[in-house]
Amino acid sequence: MNIKKTSSWIVITVILLLIGIAMLSRSIINNSNGGENLLEESIQEEPEIDLYFGFHPDSFFIFKDTISPNEFLADILLRHKVPYSIIAQLETASRDVFSVRRLRANRPYSILNRDTTDAADFFIYQPGPLRYIVYSLKDSIYAEEFQNPIDTVIRTGAGTIDHSLWVTMRRNDMNPALIAKMEDALAWTIDFHHVQPGDKFKLFFEDLMIGDESVGIGRLLGANFINRSGDNYAIYYESENYSGYFDLEGRPMKRAFLRAPVRYTRISSGFNPRRMHPVLRKVRPHLGTDYAAPHGTEIFSVADGTVTRAAYNSGNGNYVRIRHDNTYETQYLHMSRFADGIRPGVRVRQGQIIGYVGATGLATGPHVCFRFWKNGVQVDHRRLNLPPPEPMSDEELPIFHKHRNRILPIVDAIPIPEEQDEKKQSNMFTSLGWLD
Ligand SMILES: [Zn+2]
Repeated sequence: MNIKKTSSWIVITVILLLIGIAMLSRSIINNSNGGENLLEESIQEEPEIDLYFGFHPDSFFIFKDTISPNEFLADILLRHKVPYSIIAQLETASRDVFSVRRLRANRPYSILNRDTTDAADFFIYQPGPLRYIVYSLKDSIYAEEFQNPIDTVIRTGAGTIDHSLWVTMRRNDMNPALIAKMEDALAWTIDFHHVQPGDKFKLFFEDLMIGDESVGIGRLLGANFINRSGDNYAIYYESENYSGYFDLEGRPMKRAFLRAPVRYTRISSGFNPRRMHPVLRKVRPHLGTDYAAPHGTEIFSVADGTVTRAAYNSGNGNYVRIRHDNTYETQYLHMSRFADGIRPGVRVRQGQIIGYVGATGLATGPHVCFRFWKNGVQVDHRRLNLPPPEPMSDEELPIFHKHRNRILPIVDAIPIPEEQDEKKQSNMFTSLGWLD
C-alpha cells in the first residue's frame, strides 16, 4: 500500500468517525405534519450484525410464516422433517416455559434449519411484541423465553384541545398511557374532567420501542398544560432522596388533598349556602359539592387520615367521615356501600377506595356529596387555598434546578399544532376526562 492510498484511507476513516460521532450525538428533528414526534434521539447503538432472534442469520435457512387457523404445531414441524417423537418430547419440555398448547393462529413463527435435507433445528414463536420463545428441536429438546430488547426513544408531543383531551390525543395519535402519565403528573393542579377548548399541552417523554413499534411509554420527563391560568409545568425528577413530579421551584406536584373524591361525570351541585333543596323544595344551605357519577363508581379518600364514622342515617344515607389532621376533616355521602374494612378507627391513605357511589339517603340520583371542614367549619374546598407543599432541601435544590434548566427549554420549544376544525366531531367524549 503506497503513501497516497494510506493517507486517503486515513481521511475516509476520519470522515466515517466524524459521521459516527455526529449520528450518536445528534437529535433528529422529525417534523411530521401533526407536529408530534418533533424531536427524537436514539439512545441505542446498532449492533454490528443483525442477529435473528439471537441466531447468526448466515448459519441457517430461515422460514418465516404465521400460524394458520386450524394448523397444529405438528403440521408445521412435520413439513420441516421433525419426527413425531421430538414433537411429543417438546410438549413435555415446553410445559413450564411456554407450552406449545398456547400457540395461537395468526401469530408469526420462524423455522431455523442448518441443513434442509435434515430436520429443522429451531422453532421460534412470537406471542406478542415483547417476547419470543425459542424451541430447540435437536440434541437437547427445550423451550426458552426471551425478551425483545426495548429501545428508549425520547419524543415530544403537543396538542390543542377543542372538545376533549381524549379526542385531541387520539387525533394526534398519542398512546393512552401518555394521557394517564400526564394526568398523574398534573392531577393536583389541573381538573382533567373539565378541560376547556383552547387549552394546550406539551409533553416530553420516553417512548419504548421494539423495532418500529411503540410498546409503551417510559417516563414523562416534562409537561406543560397551558390553560386560562397560564403555564402549569411538571418536571420529573429522581434522586436518592426524591422521585416524582415537581413544579419549577422543586415543590412536589402531589398535594395533601386530591381535587375530588371520585372520577365524576359532572358537578351536579356546588357549595351554596342558599340553595333550593331538590327533594325538600326549600332553601337549604348546601355545604358540600355534589359529584355525579354512575352507581358503583369508586370513592377515594382525598387525603391520608383516620375514619371517624362509617354509618347510615336517613339524610346522608351511607356515609364516611375522615379526620386528616387537627385542621381538616372530610365526609362522603349517599354511598351504595362501604369498601371492605372501612370502619371507625381505621387508617386510610390518599386515593384509597372507601366506598362506592349510590343514592342512599336524601338523593335524587347517584352522586357523592363531598363535605370539607377546616377547623370545624364547613368550607368550599374548591375555593380553598391550601398551603403549597415544602420544596426540596437546600442541598438538593441546586441539583434539581440544574436538571430543570435542561428540561424546561425542551418543553418550551415544542411547537403546538394548530387547533383543527373538527367541530362536527361527536361530543360523546367531552365528559371523558379520565380513561378507565
Ligand atoms: Zn350534596
